[in-house]
Amino acid sequence: MERSARAFTHNAHKALADDVLQDNLVKLKGNFLVRRERARDSLPEFDVLRDEAKAIKDHTLAHLDLYLEAFEAQVTATGGQVHWARDAAEARAIVLEICRAEGARTVTKGKSMIAEEIALNPYLEAHGIEPVETDLGEYIIQLANEPPSHIIAPAIHKNRQQVAELFADNHAHLDGRLLDDIDDMLADARKVLRERFLKADIGITGANFMVAETGQTIIVTNEGNGDLTQLLPRVHIALASIEKAVPSLEDVTTILRVLARSATGQEMASYTTFSAGGRRDGETDGPEAFHVVIVDNGRSAMLGSEVQDMLRCIRCGCCLNACPVYGKLGGHVYGTTYSGPMGSVLSPSLFGIDEMHHLPNASTLCGRCEDVCPMRIPIPRMLRYWRERETERGLAPSTARWGLNLWSAFASRPTLYRRLMRIGVGVLGRLGRRHGGFANLPLAGGWTRAREMPAPEGQTFQDRWQRGERP
Ligand code: SF4
Repeated sequence: MERSARAFTHNAHKALADDVLQDNLVKLKGNFLVRRERARDSLPEFDVLRDEAKAIKDHTLAHLDLYLEAFEAQVTATGGQVHWARDAAEARAIVLEICRAEGARTVTKGKSMIAEEIALNPYLEAHGIEPVETDLGEYIIQLANEPPSHIIAPAIHKNRQQVAELFADNHAHLDGRLLDDIDDMLADARKVLRERFLKADIGITGANFMVAETGQTIIVTNEGNGDLTQLLPRVHIALASIEKAVPSLEDVTTILRVLARSATGQEMASYTTFSAGGRRDGETDGPEAFHVVIVDNGRSAMLGSEVQDMLRCIRCGCCLNACPVYGKLGGHVYGTTYSGPMGSVLSPSLFGIDEMHHLPNASTLCGRCEDVCPMRIPIPRMLRYWRERETERGLAPSTARWGLNLWSAFASRPTLYRRLMRIGVGVLGRLGRRHGGFANLPLAGGWTRAREMPAPEGQTFQDRWQRGERP
């Protein structure tokens, strides 16, 4: 997708003023988080599993080269082929080369964030190959010519009416007719996609995991479209980033137990599909050829760095669902492939803080993302890390930098700080006492535009603490 993270503030204002988007985003809380809570409560060992899943990923990242080499050896032994891509350009070129070698005109695609990250669809289109998204949410946003706005629910920002209009505009057989019923829409999408599945020369999927022990790629879906994408065409290409490696099948089963519960509140996703190699002698179905494209695109630079923990992410989307900022703005405002708390760490790590410096500030640092993350990723710590880099590089707005410098000058002189606080609290308390708060406060316009600033009451926190008052 085209990146527009620099326009985050402008995008955020637009999103807040978009009433339809605000209504649509309400679905997030009702749907995902409530179900996740139920799923967690019904599994007493949920937190133990999270610790085990974290340990598995930490171990894998510490020996990533070995596990990736072992994976390649197993894929080759089972008749598949592994390709290595240092960056997005190499990954796109490898996919195109395979498509050309197979004479492909149409490819079907299962949902894949790495394909979004490397902007595969526009590249294939520019080279005369038609990509067709087969996940329903991805299909809807492909019709709308939009990027996904959520990792696991790409069209969460659209409501039923908007989807009906997209179908009416794009499905010629509807002749402009609006479908009202969700089941009718599903049936209509199924009918259109069935023909595309049968016509496709190549199927491209992502991979939730690459198992080093067996050379298998694994996809986790709820619609079965991923299976049809990888089984029906002559060739299957699995795209995966390097951190998707996992040592063994037993390790995968541990992570799978926290993945679906965190993502959709299910015990297991409807389909968990293991692929190894192409069709063997005597087998009646499956692709004739199996390619795995393993993409780095900035991840190896994260290994051993302050943001290595982010590579544990299994793309469950739970931190997005829990984040109050994402909940108000949706995913498009972030202007890059990965949104929400995980995206605000991953995007600067992959694409550089210079371009992505607004994103680590798109958080209240409330910590809910870390609380719910099945892989125990310390997102707030890494957001602070990127904020520090932003300040060091002079990327923060000058008002914020001046404000922080001023505050730090006072905060490092405790006696002066206490005196000034006393004066400030006293003056504001007196001025605001009549109304109980301020509707407008100089230098705090961002706060008072949407809410009142309460007037201070009584004494400063330091004075009360010194007197021994404790909550
Ligand atoms: S950071 Fe954690 S909660 Fe967020 S998508 Fe990744 S694994 Fe899920």
